[in-house]
Amino acid sequence: AKDAGRNTYQFYNDTFYEKVRRRVALEQELRGAVERGEFHLVFQPTLRLADGRVGVIEALMRWRTASGELRNPAEFIPIAEESGEILAMGRWALEQACRQARRWHEQGLAFERIAVNVSALQLRDPEFATQVVATCQRTGWATDRLQLEITESSLMADSETLRRSFELFRRHGIGLAIDDFGTGFSNLGYLHRFPVRHLKIDRSFVSQMGEQANMLELTHAVVSLGHALGLSVVAEGVETEAQQALLKAQGCDEAQGYLYTRPLAGPELADWLRSRR
Ligand code: C2E
Ligand code: CA
Ligand code: CA
Ligand code: CA
Repeated sequence: AKDAGRNTYQFYNDTFYEKVRRRVALEQELRGAVERGEFHLVFQPTLRLADGRVGVIEALMRWRTASGELRNPAEFIPIAEESGEILAMGRWALEQACRQARRWHEQGLAFERIAVNVSALQLRDPEFATQVVATCQRTGWATDRLQLEITESSLMADSETLRRSFELFRRHGIGLAIDDFGTGFSNLGYLHRFPVRHLKIDRSFVSQMGEQANMLELTHAVVSLGHALGLSVVAEGVETEAQQALLKAQGCDEAQGYLYTRPLAGPELADWLRSRR
């Protein structure tokens, strides 16, 4: 028993050590990755459940490291947020997304908006909002066709910076969506204080809809709440026809997920849009 205890202890230490080592390594690899051109964007559309038309197209970041490994955002975004590298990455992503949207627009492809994910650290930067507007101007993308996806926790600060940024977004018609809705804080008071337009129901709820009755009630509650506040509700991670049918019956407005397409590189998404005409 003593030996087993010691082994467990040893195992815990190795795991912990391994985690720290990996984090430090990733943090170092991330430094300067924007300048080295190691990131690219993939894009995933949202469909309106009523008529199947394409609504928002979301840009998602991908990282191919110098050694050729493709890394997942779940792995590198939290580290980039901690090191502050996310600021440079976020600026890069916004610029690329606007340029891509502009190109699709010039190719005559129909969609409503381009969406970019924004981390809490970016929102806390007093320069962020003016940078967003400037990026739209520089890339020739209309501000009212841009959407920023933020998480509930970003809004908890309720600072002067946030208030000013949101006023600028409102003035320029920049849309805000609450990402992963339902997984964060449950203080809903912020919803009507900010110019939020969309709620995105977290994938973890959608994936369990068919199996758990209380999940079905949960998504229904989010749809009702969103509608009561005049917001459009989007379900993420829709993978099956059954989930789509349930969400549609609940009055959910839009859906996104592998049922329609996985995130695609720019040219592939253009083909996907063309094939739907
Ligand atoms: P998110 O914003 O909630 O994005 C949705 C995630 O779900 C994406 O993962 C997408 O590929 C995945 N997904 C979409 N449909 C399905 C489906 O039907 N089934 C399954 N299993 N997954 C689906 P991804 O691309 O790995 O991104 C993960 C998270 O990383 C994003 O979650 C977002 O929070 C963050 N992220 C990605 N790009 C950026 C970025 O440019 N900036 C910031 N700040 N965060 C980003
Ligand atoms: Ca998102
Ligand atoms: Ca999400
Ligand atoms: Ca998510």
